[in-house]
Amino acid sequence: MAKTCANCGKKKIGFTDSCLKLKDKNILGEECYSQALKGNTFQLTSWALENTFQDFKNLMSSDTKLDFKEIHAKEKDNKKAAKKAEHEKRFKLEVLNQERIKNHNVTKYGNLYFDNVDKVILEKKDSWTPYITYSYNDVLKYTPVDQGHSEKKRHGITRAITGDIIAGGAGAIVGAVTGGKNYGYVDELGVNISLKDGKLLTVRFINESTKRGKITEKAYQDCNYLCALLDSITEENDSEKIQKVETVNSSETDITEQLKKLKSLVDDGILTQEEFEAKKKQLLNI
Ligand SMILES: [Zn+2]
Repeated sequence: MAKTCANCGKKKIGFTDSCLKLKDKNILGEECYSQALKGNTFQLTSWALENTFQDFKNLMSSDTKLDFKEIHAKEKDNKKAAKKAEHEKRFKLEVLNQERIKNHNVTKYGNLYFDNVDKVILEKKDSWTPYITYSYNDVLKYTPVDQGHSEKKRHGITRAITGDIIAGGAGAIVGAVTGGKNYGYVDELGVNISLKDGKLLTVRFINESTKRGKITEKAYQDCNYLCALLDSITEENDSEKIQKVETVNSSETDITEQLKKLKSLVDDGILTQEEFEAKKKQLLNI
């Protein structure tokens, strides 16, 4: 099928002539596109995919020529600059997190740092991985892990604790992980922290069989401090949830009260039924 160059109107026949197909399906012959477009075939084709005949005409009238080498170099520079900016951003964040740890009286448990000022948990997996930050608000629940054994028997508790099931308020379960009294060896002691997005953070104070003594006592103490901190975090998250529910309820009450008042105005003949219906629709958003 014969093709016609959109620019000069010359017929181009099939594969013998070099043609460029533009985004809007227009065709340009080699004589025409080479006036405004320099570069290799691959770059021409990708340019044509994103530009119409109008774009080509604009390019012609602007008296500039597209130099694909230049465009390519610019793209490379942009990518380099973006990479550098990303690197700087990560570096700044790392410095910020280091400052937090220095200045916010942060408590460290395992590879987790608890910052009570900014209310974030910082996770440092290893020295070459940047800190990962989680908001206290992201904490869903925590599970103490306390496994041990006497000479022969093995014991263990694993409980899931969320703010929802703690009715006793602050401190209700503080000291809950003072177990281990029944066994002479502690095999595993720590806490699993579940986040709302399903991620699990783990802290282990003991992860190999340790005879009860100063080391295990210190571990239980640390574990209880961590549980107490997690109690206050889950409790605060829950109270925020309750406050939100209360706000919704109170606005519902407001609407009901307003509707009752309006209805009494209708009964007293001050408002018409139509006016009441209109106002009701407005209040209930229907
Ligand atoms: Zn042409």
